[in-house]
Amino acid sequence: MLQADRVCKNYGALQVLRGVSLEIERGQVLCLVGPSGSGKSTFLRCINHLERVNAGRLYVDGKLVGYAEHGGKLHELTPRAAARQRREIGMVFQHFNLFPHRTALENIIEAPILVRKIPRAKAVERARDLLARVGLVDKADAYPAQLSGGQQQRVAIARALAMDPKLMLFDEPTSALDPELVGEVLSVMKHLAQEGMTMVVVTHEIGFAREVADQLVFMDAGVVVESGEPRELLANPQQDRTKAFLSTLL
Ligand code: ATP
Ligand code: MG
Repeated sequence: MLQADRVCKNYGALQVLRGVSLEIERGQVLCLVGPSGSGKSTFLRCINHLERVNAGRLYVDGKLVGYAEHGGKLHELTPRAAARQRREIGMVFQHFNLFPHRTALENIIEAPILVRKIPRAKAVERARDLLARVGLVDKADAYPAQLSGGQQQRVAIARALAMDPKLMLFDEPTSALDPELVGEVLSVMKHLAQEGMTMVVVTHEIGFAREVADQLVFMDAGVVVESGEPRELLANPQQDRTKAFLSTLL
């Protein structure tokens, strides 16, 4: 479902991604961990072409991200075509970025109606199903300010799901939450994983990674240092950098 092949990304002289390769099968969950500044967010942004890679390639569902190939040459997609491609990828951020002047329900139906041209009644029906799925049936008419951080994040997940993504990217979805609200968001994500969603999750929630992820990837300074089955990797890290990092989390 996702393949990254030696992805490189620089900002000027700063090499943020220095040849990141990894692969996720459909229905798998990959957790990505690493120190601050190691390039995790940048990598997620490259997956949906919010950032242009400097070298290497990304494929989502077999399709090259951000480019089309004609006669052996790569041409960048038009903004419109890139937007169409991006629609298949849901993204959830640390800060929920809900529209503050719209209710939970309105936040969820916005993109399906405007972008997907789904009739309003249908979009509303679907949004109510999604709110139920994230445990918020009774909050359809609440504004973000009337919701807890955990509830806002669950609305943000429902909003991403409303576009029927093939792949969901999560960038530290619980790190802005009070500790007592983390569990409810992780539980929604765990259900999503059990339903077969393909997910890339940047998180420091090692318990979640151990329980839910199929693959744990440790990244440092723009490279994948080590990856593997989560329990195995956590119990038996091979690289000193991985050991040092994991000891900061535990
Ligand atoms: P954190 O755990 O703190 O979120 P991260 O692993 O997500 O860190 P990135 O946000 O990907 O790290 O940043 C990697 C490096 O790239 C950092 O040194 C950062 O300062 C730099 N960087 C990120 N975005 C930009 C940008 N738009 N312009 C210039 N430098 C950037
Ligand atoms: Mg980040």
